[in-house]
Amino acid sequence: MLQVHQFPCLSDNYCFLIRDDATGCVACIDTPDGDAIARQLDDLGWSLDWILNTHWHPDHVGGNTMLKARYGCRIIGPAHEADRIPGIDQTVDEGDEVMVGECRAEVLHTPGHTLGHIVYHFADEHKAFVGDTLFALGCGRLFEGTPEQMWNSLSRLREWPDDTVIYCAHEYTQANARFALSVDGDNPALRERAEAVDAQRARGEFTVPTTIALERATNPFLRADDADLQAAVGMSGAPLPDAFAEIRRRKDAF
Ligand code: ZN
Ligand code: FE
Repeated sequence: MLQVHQFPCLSDNYCFLIRDDATGCVACIDTPDGDAIARQLDDLGWSLDWILNTHWHPDHVGGNTMLKARYGCRIIGPAHEADRIPGIDQTVDEGDEVMVGECRAEVLHTPGHTLGHIVYHFADEHKAFVGDTLFALGCGRLFEGTPEQMWNSLSRLREWPDDTVIYCAHEYTQANARFALSVDGDNPALRERAEAVDAQRARGEFTVPTTIALERATNPFLRADDADLQAAVGMSGAPLPDAFAEIRRRKDAF
């Protein structure tokens, strides 16, 4: 069993500390804030064996050097952007496996937000750490990749089993919900979820993690091949990934 300890970092990042119960092995998914992570580890009485980075952006690797110096942990990160991951010890790419104690993650290469972005899928645990590729009701901005690359990446995550728990790296859900309603407001599942998200945020609760089933039903970026949504954005019958590109373009301008 993999325990997940989630906490907010910086203005809107989440950090995840994960611990394999059987061995006590601990890993940190991305390092938005080294000091905050060290404080959490100390409070939990956990050490740190691994850092698993998803991509090179500073709000994901900023604590690498400090945490490595303090805990002597090893750093695993994406092969295609290894030169931009501080302190990296081991690169991984599509199809590679990462072990946290006895828990196994499969690595998927999901270009789009950045060209080298990877995600970690602990299939036996029904958990995935997706960085800035997929958000609750959203997806990462296309800083480096093309709409086609991002659509292909998201389409692969969409295939995961319904109960896969999705740990995204930011709390963007409420703003994402407003945009989603602007393009997919006739979707009853989305309307219901948007209300639930407003209530959660009003209570100060996290809206992350989510599940892939919920995203499949309500996330406009996973629904770019839905006929009603395509019609709503004037892209009926458009080839994919053009409909996806149009939804992403509208979000960037929203
Ligand atoms: Zn990023
Ligand atoms: Fe980020």
